[in-house]
Amino acid sequence: MLRRSGVSLVHNLPLTPSRSILPLICTRKISTQRRPNSTLSTADSFNGSASSSLSHSNPNPPAPISPLSTLPTPYLLRTILVCTVSTSPFLSKVLTKLLLTYTNFLTSSPIPKFFLKHTFYNHFCAGNTPTEIQSTLRRLKSWGFRGIILAYAKEVEVPANPSKETISQEHLEADISTWRDATIETIKYAEPKSFVAVKYSGAGPASVLNMETDEPQSPLFMGALDDICKAAQADGKNVKLLFDAEQTRYQDAMDGYTLSLMKKYNTTDRMPTVYNTYQMYRKVSPSNLKNHLEAAKSQGFGFGAKVVRGAYLHSDPRSTFWESKEGTNDSYNGGIKRLLEFDNSRGAKNGGINVGIVVATHNQSSVTKAMDTLAALKQEGGGKLLEGKEITFAQLAGMADEVSMSVINAQENGGVNVVKYIPWGTMEQCVKYLLRRADENKDALGRTGDTKRAAGREILRRMKGVFGF
Ligand SMILES: Cc1cc2nc3c(=O)[nH]c(=O)nc-3n(C[C@H](O)[C@H](O)[C@H](O)COP(=O)(O)OP(=O)(O)OC[C@H]3O[C@@H](n4cnc5c(N)ncnc54)[C@H](O)[C@@H]3O)c2cc1C
Repeated sequence: MLRRSGVSLVHNLPLTPSRSILPLICTRKISTQRRPNSTLSTADSFNGSASSSLSHSNPNPPAPISPLSTLPTPYLLRTILVCTVSTSPFLSKVLTKLLLTYTNFLTSSPIPKFFLKHTFYNHFCAGNTPTEIQSTLRRLKSWGFRGIILAYAKEVEVPANPSKETISQEHLEADISTWRDATIETIKYAEPKSFVAVKYSGAGPASVLNMETDEPQSPLFMGALDDICKAAQADGKNVKLLFDAEQTRYQDAMDGYTLSLMKKYNTTDRMPTVYNTYQMYRKVSPSNLKNHLEAAKSQGFGFGAKVVRGAYLHSDPRSTFWESKEGTNDSYNGGIKRLLEFDNSRGAKNGGINVGIVVATHNQSSVTKAMDTLAALKQEGGGKLLEGKEITFAQLAGMADEVSMSVINAQENGGVNVVKYIPWGTMEQCVKYLLRRADENKDALGRTGDTKRAAGREILRRMKGVFGF
């Protein structure tokens, strides 16, 4: 219903007297139809014949279009509502308090449940059944997204400072099995070749404590990781596993598990299955990234990297991060450039290694820089420098749509993938998940102000079209 009514407004607009709106709407409709839907290989797309708006030397750049012009009006209105609440300290504090105190009541009683479902839940979450998830995916694809990064919202509660005294070892087995089964279920719901996010801390407090104290994990934990990777590769599905980065104190152990999974499962006959996440606000990350890339090349396994700035600035030890935002920005942009320009000897098909890169950010300047690097590489090597590389831009669902759509609008000519990271689960699980993320990552939440303004500008543009201004 949401989409239907939105599309109808888009269809109505060209009938208005406003001439200026016509080319905008028509351009989007034609180019959306032209967009290929199936390939995920950026290298392939970059070999396509379309001219590049990414390239600085394009003599006839396409007319600029409003970034949110393809999104339905009801979705934009919901964006304004949801972002208004998230950016208002007062409203978000009240809502958070209510949700934390009355979670069960608000997520199960008909009226509050209806309100939550049609606002926050539908805005940020994929649904709770395969049918609902598929419907969300179809909606995003109709807007030009290539797919989603699916994450299971149910998370095991880990005490702030786990110790042998505060956690129960007897739950270890049950926690790991629940985590493994839920991750495998998520893989089942994911489309072939799409992404699934995995959080190591989901394996429960006992496993997390082993990560912190650098003690060996139980064979059950290591076996669960094997089961998850095998499920991702089963029946030619080739789902990609993005292992999330978490608090700094667990990160070395997590890097270790992910690298050993890369060696085992990122074989040369396919694009990488296993991706590590690099938090570029950490001072160690540029050298970690460089060393891991070199290890992959010298040992001949595929390398997958999701690159983020990092979400735990306000809770983790400050000394481990760059002193300023500019430091993190340079580290982030430098990491992306290193990956994009990495000499992978034209991929596994040509004797080199395959590399998967997920540019995960809401920062428009970083996205533009990455697109510029891609355009330069394409121009320099005619696509050869991007062979065996798969490049994806990712933002969180319901946030930074103006950033996602800017890449989608440009990808007509560049062929990169844009996806949304989205949790699935029951209303209660998703509400708890969103509250945890909001608490961890106030910076990302702060950026929703940009999204609200972009949605507002687009609504204004449509109103001007309707009233013929
Ligand atoms: C698809 C996706 C997946 C993600 N997965 C993860 C994950 O697995 N693990 C994880 O930790 N985060 C993850 N994040 C969140 C991410 O790390 C950022 O917190 C969030 O995206 C905001 O950063 P930004 O690059 O979008 O934009 P910006 O708003 O430009 O950057 C904000 C970030 O800059 C850094 N920063 C801000 N101020 C300072 C300062 N004074 N000094 C140093 N650094 C500073 C912080 O990292 C802050 O979060 C993910 C984000 C996305 C979009």
